[in-house]
Amino acid sequence: VAKKSGRNRFSFFTAGMRDAAWARMKLIDELRHALPQRQLDVYYQPIVELARGATVKAEALLRWHHPQAGLMLPDSFIGLAEETGLIGEIGDWVLGQAAALAREWAARQGGPFQISVNKSPVEFMSKTPVRNWDTYLARDAPGQQCLSVEITEGVLLNDSPWVRDKLASLHNCGVELTIDDFGTGYASLAYLKKFKVDYLKIDQSFVQDMDSGGDSRVFAETIIVMAHKLGLKVIAEGVETAEQRDWLKAAGCDYAQGYLFSAAVPAADFMALLGAAP
Ligand code: C2E
Ligand code: MG
Ligand code: MG
Ligand code: MG
Repeated sequence: VAKKSGRNRFSFFTAGMRDAAWARMKLIDELRHALPQRQLDVYYQPIVELARGATVKAEALLRWHHPQAGLMLPDSFIGLAEETGLIGEIGDWVLGQAAALAREWAARQGGPFQISVNKSPVEFMSKTPVRNWDTYLARDAPGQQCLSVEITEGVLLNDSPWVRDKLASLHNCGVELTIDDFGTGYASLAYLKKFKVDYLKIDQSFVQDMDSGGDSRVFAETIIVMAHKLGLKVIAEGVETAEQRDWLKAAGCDYAQGYLFSAAVPAADFMALLGAAP
């Protein structure tokens, strides 16, 4: 009996594994076709300048309109895109979309407007020079400071020539550099000067813990003071309440984004949000 149930459990396990492997391969195949079949989309979340309450930036966030599963969030497919190398093509496309819109929105606003684009570590790892970002940005980018690239500290941890090369290339095109999820990585602070970082984005875990009276406020305050002493600006992400916004503003935080202002919305809906920050 033991032997029988053991065998049953074994066959159940392999069937499960087979199904998971099959589902994964199917998703990879679908992801391969997502861009040519126009299923990928970029949503935009407003970033508000706290002193004036004005929306002056936006973060580009990738979405996949999957024909069966519906709207899929990046955490469920970015990993696959990285493993398969599809992230290169997808990442270039997101940058192109953002570059075109930053130019359009700046013109409509009658002032500067910046869109920040997330870049995967994998896009910095290839040894081929710059993925042609420089020629591409010279052609399509709207000019100085209209774009920012968000990377995590992990990208800077391996100080390789090809990472440095790509960052320098972006910098030379007038693209600013944001460290995303700041405070959750393991990098030393020395890189902040070395790599000409422009913005630190305080991770949303600190912002959301702010109300509970723990150490999060101390961390946020420390990040803000340090950043300003180094000449960097600070963005807080995941701001959901007016209390969090008010506290951050009083602490001198420069910018904030979060559901309090708006979730990420399709490009067509974004213009309607401008000028309506709470
Ligand atoms: P991230 O860059 O840290 O983006 C912030 C995430 O928090 C977004 O999730 C955003 O929708 C969500 N968020 C914004 N405000 C709030 C809030 O008030 N409360 C809460 N709980 N969440 C909030 P999303 O869009 O699902 O993106 C997840 C991650 O996927 C991003 O984290 C980023 O690392 C990655 N990602 C998104 N788009 C791209 C892309 O084009 N390329 C690459 N390589 N990665 C991307
Ligand atoms: Mg980001
Ligand atoms: Mg983030
Ligand atoms: Mg994050």
